[in-house]
Amino acid sequence: MVNIPYATQWIDEEDVKVVAEALKSDWLTQGPKVKEFEEKVAAYCGTKYAVALNSGTSALHAACFAAAIGKGDEVITSPITFVATANCVLYCGGKPVFADVCPDTINIDPEEISEKITARTKAIIPVHFAGNPSAMEEINKIAKENDLVVIEDACHALGAEYKGSKIGSCKYSDMTVLSFHAVKHITTGEGGVVLTNEKTYYDKLLLFRSHGITKENDLLLKNDEGAWYYEMQTIGFNYRLTDFQSALGINQLAKLDGFVKRRREIAKRYDEAFADLDKVVALLEKEGNKSSYHLYVIQVEDRRRVFDKLRGAGVLVNVHYIPVYWQPYYQKMGYRRGECPKAEAYYAQAITLSLYPKMADEDVLRVIDSVKEALKQD
Ligand SMILES: *Cc1c(COP(=O)(O)O)cnc(C)c1O
Repeated sequence: MVNIPYATQWIDEEDVKVVAEALKSDWLTQGPKVKEFEEKVAAYCGTKYAVALNSGTSALHAACFAAAIGKGDEVITSPITFVATANCVLYCGGKPVFADVCPDTINIDPEEISEKITARTKAIIPVHFAGNPSAMEEINKIAKENDLVVIEDACHALGAEYKGSKIGSCKYSDMTVLSFHAVKHITTGEGGVVLTNEKTYYDKLLLFRSHGITKENDLLLKNDEGAWYYEMQTIGFNYRLTDFQSALGINQLAKLDGFVKRRREIAKRYDEAFADLDKVVALLEKEGNKSSYHLYVIQVEDRRRVFDKLRGAGVLVNVHYIPVYWQPYYQKMGYRRGECPKAEAYYAQAITLSLYPKMADEDVLRVIDSVKEALKQD
């Protein structure tokens, strides 16, 4: 029997066509498609500005730069995320501080955030885990009271909604980061975006994406010396997305709502199939919110046995995530196990089931049957 992956992209003939067309155009790196992609992502999410970058990780790095995270600054984030969410703080010389999660959603708990705030706290990076929005209203309130920047890591949550507004709208945050890695809702191969409603952040993000260099007349610090003139005003990187990737992104974005609809359909099937199994706990979609189901996670008591049985049956399940501060690099820095007990208890039981828009109904059924079979003690 063929294996069922936990996630995979969906590239169709039209995607291939638009990339081929972009490759034959005059622009390979930064051309009109980048701008068009940025405008379309911003319009979809209901934000003023979007800056496209070459990965979600570089987008997180750029957002931390724009937020002026520097040496000694503390940034509070979730331990149940991909390492990049915390690493971007380290890139800027800051210190990630992990606040524990809510057991029903595995999103960062606002009360735990409040407990971790010190005089050095500069920002909060909530992660909308599995596509399920974090408690943004509460997080925004804490940020306002303590003068903190909020950067949403929405790499799981393109297409999700929080209290009637699209994730990415930045209604409750300063900036929002998306990823277009192959397993995410839409893909550009590698790629990412930072969304914001603030011009000052937007200008900094643009600088950072391209070596800290600007040619914009009204942003120049010195007199324009001629048509060749540009200024490097800060230290930046080459984090640019290409035009042909942007062409792919534009075509993928047009299919996003259909992708999310299919993801939600599959999640509903799983919800129904596991509802009467007291051995399986699924994450909760909060009333009034809409999850875009990047992941479908179950929690089972004998995780290792169930995981191995599923893999053995060709259902290539995964685990998201090992608490970030358990990683050897973080342990070497002095982080200790036991810091976030709820996150650790979740991790001990978590399994990510297969979920992707191209998934066939018969594969969904096979995953359900395999989970039920794996739960039987032998
Ligand atoms: C995918 C992901 C990232 C990093 O995105 P890349 O595009 O792979 O660099 C960051 N945070 C979370 C939560 C992610 O899922």
